[in-house]
Amino acid sequence: TTKFSKLEREEPDAIVQIMNKYSEDTDDRKVDVTIGVYKSESGESYLFPSVAKAKEILRANDPGHSYTVMSGIPEFIEGARRVVFGNDIPQEGKLASLQTISGTGALHMAFVFLKEAGYTNYYLGIPSWSNYIGMIEHIGGTVTTYNHYDETTRAVDFDSVTENLESAPSNSVFLFQACCHNPTGADFTKDQWIKIAEIVKTRGLFILFDNAYQGFSSGNTEDDAWAIRYFYRQHLEFIVCESFAKNLGLYGERVGALHVVVQDKDYVDNAQSTLTALFRHECSFAPAFGARLGSIIFQSPELWKVWENDVAEITERLHHTRKQIYDRLVQLNTPGKWDHVIHQNGLFWFSGLTPAQNERLITKHHVYSTNIGRVNVAGINKSNVDYFCQAIDEVVR
Ligand code: PMP
Repeated sequence: TTKFSKLEREEPDAIVQIMNKYSEDTDDRKVDVTIGVYKSESGESYLFPSVAKAKEILRANDPGHSYTVMSGIPEFIEGARRVVFGNDIPQEGKLASLQTISGTGALHMAFVFLKEAGYTNYYLGIPSWSNYIGMIEHIGGTVTTYNHYDETTRAVDFDSVTENLESAPSNSVFLFQACCHNPTGADFTKDQWIKIAEIVKTRGLFILFDNAYQGFSSGNTEDDAWAIRYFYRQHLEFIVCESFAKNLGLYGERVGALHVVVQDKDYVDNAQSTLTALFRHECSFAPAFGARLGSIIFQSPELWKVWENDVAEITERLHHTRKQIYDRLVQLNTPGKWDHVIHQNGLFWFSGLTPAQNERLITKHHVYSTNIGRVNVAGINKSNVDYFCQAIDEVVR
C-alpha cells in the first residue's frame, strides 16, 4: 500500500519518446532533427565563441558560490533588458524585471504574476510550443485556442488571429512568439504586428511575448526585437519572456529573464516587488553560472560584438541549410511544393508531412523528426542533406 495511490502514470512528452527511440537506433545513417537545439555543421552541439571567452574570464575571476540577488544578478538584468529593448527604453524606468530559470521559468513566473494581477484567461494560436497549455492549466488558468497557421498557404492564418483578437473578452492575454515560431517557423510581418497592436490597444487586451529565439530570424538581435519595441512605443503594457538557451547556446544552464512593461511609473515598484516576492516563493535565488556568463558578454562592448557575430553566423548557416534542402527536393522532383522550407524562420521547418509519413521517416529511414512534422533544420548538414532529402522524397511518393 502507498499514500500515492491517487497518482496516475504520466506519459513522457512525445518528443522525449522520439529522442529515446533515436538514441536506441544503431543504424549509422540515423538523423536527429527532433529537439530544438542548435548543432554545428559537424553535427555537434555548439559552444559560442563569445561564451567560450566569457567562461575564461569568469574562471580567472571566480566570484565563488554565495547567493546572488533575489531578483537576479544586476549586470545580467541590465544586459538582458538591453538585448530586448535596446539602449534607450530601459532608461525610461518603466520596466520591472526578474532573472528566471530560462524561458520556461520566465513563462511560469509570467503566468503566476499575471494571476496575481487578475489575469488567467489565455488565447493561444496553434500549433504551438507543446508546453504552454499544460503550464497555464497548472497555475489554474484557462486557454482558448485558435489557428495560428494555415496549412494551405503554409504561413500565418492572420484572419484567424484578428478574429480572435476582435472577439476575445477584454481581460484576455494573447500569447505570441516574438519570432522564429515553434513549431511552424511562420511569423507575423511588421504590418501584421502593427495591425495587432492597433486591435490590442482599442480592445484593451494584454500581450505576453515569448522571446526564445531572438536573433535567429534575421541574424540580428535588434531587428528581431522590432515588434516588442514597437509595442512599447505604442504605450502598451505587456510582458516579455526572454530565453538565452538558444541565442547564447546555454540550454542546460537555464538563463532567462522576464520583463514587465508598466507604462505608469508609479506602479513599477509594485510590479517589481511582486515579481521578487513571487520568485522567493517559487525558487528564492536565481542560479548564478549562466547568468554570470551573460553578464560578462553584455557588459563588454567587444564581447557583445563577438556575440552578435555568433548569432549572425548561426542564422546564416540555418538559411544556407534551408536552401540546400530546397534545392535537393526540387532536383529530386519530389512531389509537392517546398518553398516553405526557405520562407519559414528560425530553427524549425514545419514540413507538412503527415503523421504516417513522419512515422515512415523513422521506421524506414532512421530520420527522427517529430510526429507533427517539425524538423530542426540545424540537424541537417553537408554529410546528411542528401540522405535526408531522399528519405523525404521516398515517404511522400
Ligand atoms: N518558448 C519556446 C517557443 C520554445 O521553443 C522553448 C524551448 N524549446 C521555450 C520557450 C523554453 O526554452 P527554455 O526553457 O529552454 O529557455
